[in-house]
Amino acid sequence: MLTRIGGGRVIDPANGRDSVGDVWMQDGKIVSAPQERRADATYNAAGKIVMAGAIDIHSHIAGANVNTARLLLPEYHSAAAMRPAETPLSQVGWTTHEIGCLYATMGFTTVVEPAMSPHYALHAHLELADIPIIDKATLAVLGNDDYLLGLLHAKESDAAIQDYVAWTLDMSRALGIKVVNAGGAAAFKENVRAFSFDDVVPSYGVSSRVIVKSLQRAVHALAIPHPLHVHCNNLGLAGNFETALTTIAAAEALPLHLAHLQFYSYGKEGERGFSSAAPALAEAVNAAKSVTIDVGQVMFGQTVTISSDVLRQFNARNQAKPRKWVILDGDANGFGIVPYNYRRNDFYNVVQWAAGLELFLLTRDSSRVFFTTDHPNGASFTTYPEIFALLMSHDLRAQWMAEMPPAALKVTTLPLIAREYSLTEIATMTRAAPAKLLGLMDRGHLGAGAIADVAIYEDDADRAKMFRSAALVFKDGELVVRDGLVTNLRSGRTLTVRPERDRAIDRRMRAYYEDRYGLSDEFLKVPEHALGRPEPFAVVPCRL
Ligand SMILES: [Zn+2]
Repeated sequence: MLTRIGGGRVIDPANGRDSVGDVWMQDGKIVSAPQERRADATYNAAGKIVMAGAIDIHSHIAGANVNTARLLLPEYHSAAAMRPAETPLSQVGWTTHEIGCLYATMGFTTVVEPAMSPHYALHAHLELADIPIIDKATLAVLGNDDYLLGLLHAKESDAAIQDYVAWTLDMSRALGIKVVNAGGAAAFKENVRAFSFDDVVPSYGVSSRVIVKSLQRAVHALAIPHPLHVHCNNLGLAGNFETALTTIAAAEALPLHLAHLQFYSYGKEGERGFSSAAPALAEAVNAAKSVTIDVGQVMFGQTVTISSDVLRQFNARNQAKPRKWVILDGDANGFGIVPYNYRRNDFYNVVQWAAGLELFLLTRDSSRVFFTTDHPNGASFTTYPEIFALLMSHDLRAQWMAEMPPAALKVTTLPLIAREYSLTEIATMTRAAPAKLLGLMDRGHLGAGAIADVAIYEDDADRAKMFRSAALVFKDGELVVRDGLVTNLRSGRTLTVRPERDRAIDRRMRAYYEDRYGLSDEFLKVPEHALGRPEPFAVVPCRL
């Protein structure tokens, strides 16, 4: 069937397009305007904005940590039924079903779950398979696991580390590799409670720097499109911008992605010894062309922090609100779940909010700064429309700031920043750039050959309203949202990479699991048939 989306303002930065015109779709793909044939179906997009489906590179939507948060907070979970609409978190899509529907309603069609423990991969993929409509992907977490630290301790070759990384990606069906407080969680098991980039994991004698650099080289050598995704050390601490600067300097011209940099943008200025150092970080990012970041924007309200950074979550447990938490000092990274309430009148929370916006606004290249709240750590993904609006309007930011404690804003530069994002910059940050960063060349744009993921919005001056509720959304050419309501609960797929490896690693890993765990390595494989539908996975090529 040939479908025409007619007469909308098409904003497609990957193809240099911002003009009124048509987008054509056939068999789930975008096609060029046909010379003669008439459309079998036409959707009138006059007065509307037409973009590719949006892509979220970092949102905790599935797996052991997310599910533990559900168990910890049943009172906030819609599945507990009868949850009044006004209760905290009532706007957070906690069920798999809600996650897919809420993302689709906002015009998002691909979302990456960024913290999958390889040993819990099957659980994560079962949950992802239950999320309707959107395509998904995961990042596998390495860097505190005994096998990798053992390889580094034994000073094994780069080739051995590459084979292990490739094996992990294949077994766990991930799209890339993440490292979370590299070495910090392993050191935590030996009662270490503070861990920086050049600190050493006692039993293994390797530093965070060595772990990060080894994984960065391996990911690059395997030609995995997404660079190593780094959650730095010292999350949340005053003065931690220096840790982030050290990590940025360590990139050394090889690709490196720094996650939720807002949580590392704190200085020690001012009376309270807590200030925004986002300008210094943005300057470093502007200069380091191989480095990409996402922000992890904070918004106000109740949320829950979910992290594989067990060391930092343990230290933050007393800030839990409500006063309950889960710390699992378990396999490899372990994890920590700490509920938290960001308040608009709290000095520290306002500095965090402002620092995130400073990072967005002071990073010049909108293709190297990515849009995240680190859902649900900084805020729920359902706050994205409000953040788009804040980025696009200096006046709106001024209105928000007028209600906030001036002492907090004084230790930031946000009141001085006039920049406003354009729709093209929003489309770059949420469509064109993330597709490139993840190696998903079939999406993030509206050129011929792309999959037909298309989001169409009313061109409303209230940008939050516009982005909250798309007029029409197509996934692979199928209409899934109309007037902000889901019309079709189709299933998406999970995207993976499968880089080449020397198969000797398979024998080595089998022996390791038998020796260390008394288990077959089969236990961590994710069989396709377990997901209960045909072709649940799609393999993304590595650039070899
Ligand atoms: Zn995260």
